[in-house]
Order: sequence, then structure tokens, then C-alpha cells
Amino acid sequence: MNRIDLDQADPQFKKELVQQPGGEKIMACFTCRTCTASCPINAVNAKFNPLQIIRMALYGLKKEVLESDFIWLCSSCYACQERCPQGVSITDFMTLLKNMALKEGHAPQGVRAQRDIIRNEGRIYPLDDFDNKKRNKIDLPSLPTSCEVAKVLISDEEAEESV
Ligand code: SF4
Ligand code: SF4
Repeated sequence: MNRIDLDQADPQFKKELVQQPGGEKIMACFTCRTCTASCPINAVNAKFNPLQIIRMALYGLKKEVLESDFIWLCSSCYACQERCPQGVSITDFMTLLKNMALKEGHAPQGVRAQRDIIRNEGRIYPLDDFDNKKRNKIDLPSLPTSCEVAKVLISDEEAEESV
């Protein structure tokens, strides 16, 4: 990471984070590095470092965090969260950052495309009549080929904000 310019920091960012699910305990982090040592992504790509992301967030580097590509590398495996001695919900915190980035329009194109498929089809792998014929052949019931609930869960407003 490059030199931190605290003049550009947003001191309100950590207050914003601690009020949301996943961010409640980030201020309890005492930089033991257990999360980073447990992280399978960090083992293959040092650019992704959960401790560093937490420190950046606490320093108020909102833009650098939310506009980064590295927050999207978290695989949500929960290895860090299970081991944090301070009870920081690190995996949930990464999800919080991803959701905030999505709302501000910084999600990678692939993530937005997946969101749109789920929103329109109800599934990441859409079903059609051909799939249902194959299901019926082995005595499985047909499934609906669209899911209206997903359209309600992923609102138009969110879809427009993040495109
Ligand atoms: S394991 Fe927990 S306390 Fe240790 S550095 Fe990571 S978040 Fe902080
Ligand atoms: S949940 Fe994310 S940050 Fe935590 S160990 Fe897994 S990949 Fe790393």
C-alpha cells in the first residue's frame, strides 16, 4: 500500500461502519494478524489483507476501500471470523464493505452482471423448459423458470444506483 494521506481521510467513516451489521466490533481489533494468517486468499495474493482493510477503514480511507478491487477478493470462508480473539465479525465486515461499494456504484462488472441475473431470473443459473424436462425424466418436479420475489428483494433503485 502507498503512503496514507490522512488529510483525505473521512473521520465519520468508522462511525458509519460500527452502526451496521458486521462493523459493530471493528474498533476492538488489536492488530494481532490472526485474520490475515488464517486467510486462504492472502496466502495466494498478498494484495488482499483483511487486517489492512480493517485498519484502512478505521483510518477513514473510505474512498480507497470502497473503490478498491481487493475487497471483492474475499471468498466469505469465515476462517478469519472463527479465529478472531476479539470477536470481530471480519467476514460480515467484508460483506458490509461490498454492499456499500455496490450501492455507491463501485462493484466490478461481473458482480453487477450476476446481480442482474439473480434479479431477473431468481437464480444464478437460469432454468428453462429443457431443464425441467430433464428433471421430470428422473421424477423431480418442475421448478418455476422465473422468480418474482428476487425482483422485490433486489429493488430497481439498487439496480440503478450501482450500474
Ligand atoms: S484477528 Fe481480529 S483482532 Fe486480530 S487483527 Fe484480525 S480483526 Fe484484528
Ligand atoms: S472470510 Fe474473507 S477475509 Fe476472512 S479468511 Fe476467508 S477470504 Fe479471508
